[in-house]
Amino acid sequence: MKNFGKNMMLEFDDAFEIVMSSARLLGTEHVGIDQALNRVLAEDVLSDIDVPPFNKSAMDGFACRRADLANELTMIETIPAGYMPEKTIGQNQCAKIMTGAVVPEGADCVIMVEYTEKLSERTIHFTGRETSGNICFKAEDITAGDIMIRRGTRIKPEHIAVLASVGCVTPLVARQPKVAIIATGNELVEPAVRPANSQIRNSNSYQLTAQLTEAGAIPHYYGIAADTEPAIDSILKEAIADSDVILLSGGVSMGDFDLVPKMLRENNIKLIFEKVAIKPGKPTVFGVSDEVFCFGLPGNPVSTFVVFEILVKPFLCRMMAHEFKPFTIPLPLEKAISRRRTERMSWIPVAFTDSGGVTPVEYHGSAHINALCGADGLIAVPAGVTEIKEGTCVDVRQI
Ligand code: AMP
Ligand code: MG
Repeated sequence: MKNFGKNMMLEFDDAFEIVMSSARLLGTEHVGIDQALNRVLAEDVLSDIDVPPFNKSAMDGFACRRADLANELTMIETIPAGYMPEKTIGQNQCAKIMTGAVVPEGADCVIMVEYTEKLSERTIHFTGRETSGNICFKAEDITAGDIMIRRGTRIKPEHIAVLASVGCVTPLVARQPKVAIIATGNELVEPAVRPANSQIRNSNSYQLTAQLTEAGAIPHYYGIAADTEPAIDSILKEAIADSDVILLSGGVSMGDFDLVPKMLRENNIKLIFEKVAIKPGKPTVFGVSDEVFCFGLPGNPVSTFVVFEILVKPFLCRMMAHEFKPFTIPLPLEKAISRRRTERMSWIPVAFTDSGGVTPVEYHGSAHINALCGADGLIAVPAGVTEIKEGTCVDVRQI
């Protein structure tokens, strides 16, 4: 793979293409249906049966022949759900039937109990003017052999119902990438500690853990590496030995102690690019080796969040053969956005308004940790664009 060097800034689309095309599948495994939520199916799931499996009554009522609706009907059997009828409905006969029960031979409709009158212990007549059939026919929803869920689908609760209904109790799913998280920075302390002067709480590692879990990967947090070569080296070696993907945050900018790219190279990770024309997220680094993929993410929490969302998440999904499609909605922008510098694509946090549009949230930059909490989505301002006018329809990518 081509190496774009330290000073070359890639357009986002090019960086995305490079990352996505380098994704590798990790194999498959069977999991119990109770563990399948959010996993990605690795094979098409077929139905092993017809659904409904028999002509089924949609109502509580009486199964009879439409031709006899004007006549007094003699009840010959009662058919609860889960019972196989023993008799065939003949002329002027009916069977009392419950919702979900098997419609007996000979009957071509079920009249609702509400439209009948009891004439004697064993006879009824129809009091309505007309009736629908009220029969769900065998195989009208699904025929045995139909594809129920396609390979590559991320399993949601409604898919679990389908898996259960076709007896697929141990679906074949994609293996989940094991993803290492490494924080870097001398200033970082863990969240339980109250930061002293000059210290910052490590929020990225926990945000990334949550984002990874939501994306269906397996996060593994390796801790904080100080901004020294040996500290980064030893934690990196540990992570390389046991991960499919490594996410480092911090240490990728131009400062004297931004050592991550150097340490990746020293661990035989080939750096493909080191700058992307996005804001936030410019110093994003992507590296590969035979064993592992590495992303060096900028340290500010909003940058880490956005780069994970737009670049890392689609990549991880591809590693599970799932094509991630962000949920985007076109909505009118209710407050203009303008900027002076336009060489990068900007991602701006926005919130839905009561009037059905979106508006930018208060946002001071990529260190503004709570700005995203008030946002419902992100909009992209393309490189080269200085202003998006009020009233313009913008694509809102939900977060
Ligand atoms: P860096 O990319 O290392 O230059 O970091 C950029 C900014 O992000 C600095 O203000 C760091 O203190 C902050 N930062 C780096 N890592 C983290 C982290 N894990 N959690 C919160 N903030 C961080
Ligand atoms: Mg740093």
